[in-house]
Amino acid sequence: DVVISGLSKSFGSNRVLQSLDLRVPSRQFVTLLGPSGCGKTTLLRLIAGLEKSSQGEIRFGEKRVDTLAPGDRNIAMVFQSYALYPTMSVARNIGYGLEVRRIGKPERTARIGAVAKVLEILHLLARKPKALSGGQRQRVALGRAMVRKPDIFLMDEPLSNLDAKLRAAMRGELRRFHLDLGTTTIYVTHDQLEAMTMSDLVVVMNEGVVQQIGTPEEVYARPANLFVAGFIGTPP
Ligand code: ATP
Repeated sequence: DVVISGLSKSFGSNRVLQSLDLRVPSRQFVTLLGPSGCGKTTLLRLIAGLEKSSQGEIRFGEKRVDTLAPGDRNIAMVFQSYALYPTMSVARNIGYGLEVRRIGKPERTARIGAVAKVLEILHLLARKPKALSGGQRQRVALGRAMVRKPDIFLMDEPLSNLDAKLRAAMRGELRRFHLDLGTTTIYVTHDQLEAMTMSDLVVVMNEGVVQQIGTPEEVYARPANLFVAGFIGTPP
């Protein structure tokens, strides 16, 4: 499990996470929901080790992941701003993390091809990022994370730039990838339909603390408090 205890994070005087506790069971698909600014992205960045906490800790099994070096944790994060390497081809963008880990070319090529097929970007592998649409870039960023077969897969609005049809297809593909790999997925979205259809568990956050964690059905049918009742079902 991913176990987060007493996690606090401040930016100056802005207390973004306030002694947050959360247990994400292994192999579950868990979605963070909450109003803009409640700390969802900050929480993902802390789990990914991109940010240092002010207090508290994050454990994955026996390991404290928040203090591990980035190379020692198999955690992949897909950002809202996908930040591709502009001079590299799509294929190399996807495979770069494998190159760094010295995985040989034949295996790299096979793994790049497999994720590109799932993401429907096989025809784009030779292009540079600047020759791609926003939705295509978003899928390359997903591919770059998926190809690493992460233990923990963190995604921040990874489908926000896709049209409705592709978004529906990619929901299914992400869910299948999650199940095939047996990864632990923590997902951020503003799309409540997405949260309800993809997730094993939904976490509702507000002002840097967890208001409720439960299955989509539980959170809908039995909101823990007035905040959750008001937030769920209210279009963002
Ligand atoms: P959204 O749904 O709009 O993406 P969020 O729940 O992901 O919001 P965060 O991005 O985690 O929210 O931001 C939480 C708070 O932390 C905001 O008030 C934001 O301004 C602040 N914040 C985030 N990153 C930084 C930073 N690097 N420096 C200063 N303040 C930050």
